[in-house]
Amino acid sequence: MRFRLLALLVAATQVCAQVPDSGRWQELRFPAEEVEQRAGDQYIEQTVSLAAAGRLDRDKALLFRARRIAEGLVRAAVALKPDAKGWSWEVHVTDDPAVEAESQAGGKLLLGSLFAGRLRLDDGELAILLAHEIAHIVAEHERETLSEALLDSRRDLPLDVVAERLASDVPLQFRLSRLSAIQEREADQLGMLIAYRAGWPCSAMLTFYRKLAADSSATTILASHPSGTTRLSLAKGMSRLLDD
Ligand SMILES: [Zn+2]
Repeated sequence: MRFRLLALLVAATQVCAQVPDSGRWQELRFPAEEVEQRAGDQYIEQTVSLAAAGRLDRDKALLFRARRIAEGLVRAAVALKPDAKGWSWEVHVTDDPAVEAESQAGGKLLLGSLFAGRLRLDDGELAILLAHEIAHIVAEHERETLSEALLDSRRDLPLDVVAERLASDVPLQFRLSRLSAIQEREADQLGMLIAYRAGWPCSAMLTFYRKLAADSSATTILASHPSGTTRLSLAKGMSRLLDD
């Protein structure tokens, strides 16, 4: 009886949603507000500790460039997903060498200034990088991953417990790696569309992914993502498609 009641509770919160543009169906078990709240708290914690270490927003020129570029990208993203308008979008820059570019649910972005500097990104290329991160948010990838991790447990669990498990459970991470690969490809594709609609040229897609493929020091953005060559050929395909 208890099991049936829990199953009903889980079913009641389940939402089927479609990713903008790709149309891929997702099963979302946790409410968007709960995932956004948690991500927002984590972002505050992360930025406060970077600020305490003297590593937040020191590169003012890059911070203003990133914020200006993100503004246009968010406008294009809202046209694809109207909910994104209500999110509290925020962009910060850090010179923590471990950060390349990161995003969290609800509109939170963190850009690594050492990474952007090493790749010598011009405005168009920076737009492609930020658009990839914005696409992860717009496609609600974090909420989807947490929902999939909950399904794996076959029981109703609070969000915090599932998130902790996801961070430490290697077999679970391995099981979700296929979903992660789908999400990365989707973020590349959707990101390029967002950047294009925000007015950035297709040539920026090609030069950004060419630089990324040639950068042997890139760690997280390459380790958790498809190979540089695969991403470059996707960029070539997208730029041909968008140019038509
Ligand atoms: Zn990504």
